[in-house]
Amino acid sequence: MSPFFFRKFERWPLEGAKSISVCCEKCRNTNDHIIMVDPEIPLLQFGPFGKKPLLSLKKYYLTCSICGHDAKELTKDQANAMKG
Ligand SMILES: [Zn+2]
Repeated sequence: MSPFFFRKFERWPLEGAKSISVCCEKCRNTNDHIIMVDPEIPLLQFGPFGKKPLLSLKKYYLTCSICGHDAKELTKDQANAMKG
């Protein structure tokens, strides 16, 4: 059995990243936003591009820690620049 069966494909906070205090446009709270990593795994990808590595794509979001709203999508470089 592959360990992939047991993994949860959920987003997780970027390790070592600083949080930024900004006003959330959804819940209107000014609070710490954290950087979340979204694995974006193409679970059901078939066809000519079906053989791409499963973990090739990661997305980074600046996310409200109260309501979970994604304030902004970040590039990998931007996300890594937030590590302190
Ligand atoms: Zn919010």
